[in-house]
Amino acid sequence: MGYRLLLAAVMVVASTKSLAAPAADRATLALHKGLLTLDTHLDTPASFARPGWDFGARHSLDSDFSQVDLPRMAKGGLDGGFFVIYTAQGPRTPAGLIAARDAAWYRAVQIRETIARHPARAELAFTAADAPRIAAAGRAIVYQSMENAYPLTTDISLLEGFYKLGLRMVGAAHFLNNDFADSSTDPKGPEWNGLSPLGHKLVSEANRLGIIVDASHSSDLVLDQMLAQSRAPVILSHSGCKAIYDHPRNVDDARLLALAAKGGVIKINAYGGYLAAEVPNPERDAALKALGHKYGNPGLLPPEKVAALVKARRAILNRFPGSERSFEQFLAHLLHALKLVGPDHVGIGADWDGGGGVAGMQDITGLPKITAALLDAGYSEADLTKIWGGNVLRVMTAVEAAADKPSAQ
Ligand SMILES: [Zn+2]
Repeated sequence: MGYRLLLAAVMVVASTKSLAAPAADRATLALHKGLLTLDTHLDTPASFARPGWDFGARHSLDSDFSQVDLPRMAKGGLDGGFFVIYTAQGPRTPAGLIAARDAAWYRAVQIRETIARHPARAELAFTAADAPRIAAAGRAIVYQSMENAYPLTTDISLLEGFYKLGLRMVGAAHFLNNDFADSSTDPKGPEWNGLSPLGHKLVSEANRLGIIVDASHSSDLVLDQMLAQSRAPVILSHSGCKAIYDHPRNVDDARLLALAAKGGVIKINAYGGYLAAEVPNPERDAALKALGHKYGNPGLLPPEKVAALVKARRAILNRFPGSERSFEQFLAHLLHALKLVGPDHVGIGADWDGGGGVAGMQDITGLPKITAALLDAGYSEADLTKIWGGNVLRVMTAVEAAADKPSAQ
């Protein structure tokens, strides 16, 4: 490229720079794209169920709220990650459990069907060794994880069925307590003081099969008990640091040190509500509430209504600056964790398509900014290799090694 053309390109990049987070320069972008990058919490499978939504086509946050698809993975240099089978906590009745089980099973099948539609561009992954092989073939790496063990009902043998469909990570609880564990955010407070007897069985069964145990969303005592019980390292797939923002979803320094001592990893979340306290603004909140009433559940809306809702919401946020958390607030959690436990025990799990995203990094096309910020903070390419993918693959390898080997017949 000639100098003039290069200058013009740089100026275009410079003019689109966000004030909150500088765009990565060419060298950083090249370095970023050369890394094997995995995010441990992609809620994208919820989009797989949307009528007409195509994982292989480019979407945008402004048109349909989505943050991840194959074209944006290529643009943002995201090689893959753990695609989540998420279940909201519902009633713990026989009918509620069966409905959750069937919905989660269908979601796992839907992940497989979606990936099967793009054989040249994406591939299901089952072992740590799969990731570099799939990345080298130029395809997206698709692991599966479960957020909230509620769909396992009270029958722990269901975990093996999900394992056979490809499940390689399981989190015990979500916003509310369930039959496995206490949540960090249940307004009723603890029910089990950590894991229930069934929750302890979940940990041993995950260990036996070779599934990573995830403590994100669960209470602090659940993390303690998982660390004490698990024979393999434990993960926090999308969490933050209590030292930066004191929220029940975040984890204190002593526990992060214990997680690291056991070989585990915290993957840093970009979910605004857990990054910093919200600046109160009753006028903005009333406007957002009125919008919510007008449109209802976005998941049930036709595409044109979703686009209108996104536009109206964006207009409200623009009217009240400071409503969104910043890239710097996300970075504060990442840098604190790195300083505390070191680059062998930190990674990225930003909660894309699940509420993650900050001003200046609103979908995965902004990921190179993280690489740029870490280089600025003095981290090396070797550190970045671990942070972006190496650490979770190390945990996965350890989990595989600790699993029961199938007995020879
Ligand atoms: Zn979550």
